[in-house]
Amino acid sequence: MIVETEGIVLRKTEMYNNVRMVTLLTKKYGKISCATTLPEKGRKKGSFAVQPFSYGIYNIFKSRRSIYLNSFEPKKSFFKIGEDIEKYACGAYALEFTDKLTPEEEPVPEIFNLLIDYMSILDVRSSNFKSLLLAYLIKLIQKDGIAPELKYCVSCEKNTEKMYFSVEEGGLLCEACKKTIIEPDTLIYVANFGIIDVVKYILNNPLHMMAKVAVDTEIEENIFKVLKHYCSYHLGIDKIKSEEIMSNNSPF
Ligand SMILES: [Zn+2]
Repeated sequence: MIVETEGIVLRKTEMYNNVRMVTLLTKKYGKISCATTLPEKGRKKGSFAVQPFSYGIYNIFKSRRSIYLNSFEPKKSFFKIGEDIEKYACGAYALEFTDKLTPEEEPVPEIFNLLIDYMSILDVRSSNFKSLLLAYLIKLIQKDGIAPELKYCVSCEKNTEKMYFSVEEGGLLCEACKKTIIEPDTLIYVANFGIIDVVKYILNNPLHMMAKVAVDTEIEENIFKVLKHYCSYHLGIDKIKSEEIMSNNSPF
């Protein structure tokens, strides 16, 4: 069966004799990995089909045993993402994280659209790339159905003056409920309402509302720290290789 779908390359792996494995996030079929012999560079039709960040219409042959990428028509180029190392790192981070989060061959059209929105905004953005990445990651876990509860205590549903954020419980805890936790939970933080408000704003607004917003650096660092623990605990996503190409003062 030959199918056509919009897709974006998440990852490319060299195999043998010019055969490459390309992992695509597609609009119709979710994440699929296909073999291809399409050229990687040059002016031939199909060039760039296998490069991470390539976005276009993919023509794919699917059989029971294999999936093969036949051809590619570019739809939009995100070439400006490569013009700055931080910007590139934030793009690569999003691809890698999305790859780890999404299952094979299960359609996730909302996540696909979110990723394309993110790349489109990142492509034209000139600074504060990490604020946008932060917003993308928070929207992504929201679409995946594991957004934290930030309106009230996850245990008793009360809202008190002093609240805590528990990674394990997946949201806010009041003082009284925190005291009932017998095992010491090392992943509990005092909830700073400046931070909670930023995360709520991201959760309640479409990503394009973040196009020109920059989050205060200290708040950004704190959210990333908690978000990393959160994703490690709830998704088992620990190491993101793209962190290594970020600058030394990276909040990651
Ligand atoms: Zn409570």
